Amino acid sequence: MPQKEKVIILGSGPAGLTAAIYTARANLTPLVFEGFQSGGMPGGQLMTTGVVENFPGFSKGIDGQALMAEMRQQAINLGARLIMEDITSVLIDKRPFTLVSMSNQEFETDSLIVATGATARRLPLDSEKKLWTKGISACAVCDGALPIFRDKELAVIGGGDAAVEEATHLTQFGSKVYLIHRRDQLRASHIMQQRALEHPKIEILWNKVVEEFLGNEMLTGLRLKDTKSGEESELKVAGAFEAIGHTPNTSFLSGQLDTTDTGYIITHADSTETSVEGVFAAGDVQDSKYRQAISAAGSGCMAAIECERWLITAGK
Ligand SMILES: Cc1cc2nc3c(=O)[nH]c(=O)nc-3n(C[C@H](O)[C@H](O)[C@H](O)COP(=O)(O)OP(=O)(O)OC[C@H]3O[C@@H](n4cnc5c(N)ncnc54)[C@H](O)[C@@H]3O)c2cc1C
Repeated sequence: MPQKEKVIILGSGPAGLTAAIYTARANLTPLVFEGFQSGGMPGGQLMTTGVVENFPGFSKGIDGQALMAEMRQQAINLGARLIMEDITSVLIDKRPFTLVSMSNQEFETDSLIVATGATARRLPLDSEKKLWTKGISACAVCDGALPIFRDKELAVIGGGDAAVEEATHLTQFGSKVYLIHRRDQLRASHIMQQRALEHPKIEILWNKVVEEFLGNEMLTGLRLKDTKSGEESELKVAGAFEAIGHTPNTSFLSGQLDTTDTGYIITHADSTETSVEGVFAAGDVQDSKYRQAISAAGSGCMAAIECERWLITAGK
């Protein structure tokens, strides 16, 4: 028989580790599955970036990996127990909930906090991997203000609302922003399209796909291909922001929680409660709007407090 936990937390990004810190301080000795590979690495998305300039408390900025190492150590110091594995399946229609880990071990828990994040989709190109964080990013709000992008020509790849938002945001920093879209019309809503079409700093390059990211140490440009004529061209840019969507890491739930059409867990208004009592969701896995470390950490705190109160009310 597996030992029954009071609370299990899935994910070790800012949401999961904040929930771990709060539930540990509430003497719930949380068990945290840090993740391994199915939804990104232990520590979450910030492990893939360089300096984080907008997380409060670090006036000089802090390296993403260093920030996550601090959060992890803080959770351990307060009594959280961490296991570096993915959870591959859960059974939450029966109490206690049952979870199976990637090493095929079973765990039981009264409550569950899902903080498994979302994975930014990236172009499957070797040159992209080589120059990732060296001029290529998947988050303009996070990285757009970095000095390497200031007063430079930049590119956003994508055609939805998020791509237009990213391009508009980047106009504050870059001298010009190219929006590269593979079709001849944007998928973005009408109002967002107008914003992009009318912005003096944004130029839309229609029917273009990125064939290669150019540069050795840092990104210097893009090799583009016209999807209609097949013609190739080069575009000089100092920054490229991929805005081709995110995939929330929810496949292990096998549809047992209510989600949006795009797979984000639905939480009650102003709450982290989900469609199943005793299951809470925090961070990017339930947030397609803000997607920031501080908002993820904030909802991790909410999930922990709501979970603690629920355990008391449920007499657990
Ligand atoms: C390149 C880049 C740069 C960024 N820069 C900034 C920035 O400067 N400032 C900022 O505020 N935000 C930034 N962000 C956004 C920020 O990283 C996210 O908003 C934040 O990490 C979300 O936190 P989270 O805890 O919800 O999820 P994540 O950080 O995505 O963490 C998810 C966790 O869940 C784990 N996991 C997934 N599936 C499973 C499973 N089945 N079982 C167990 N564990 C699982 C993963 O391994 C991971 O530990 C950046 C994002 C990217 C991609």
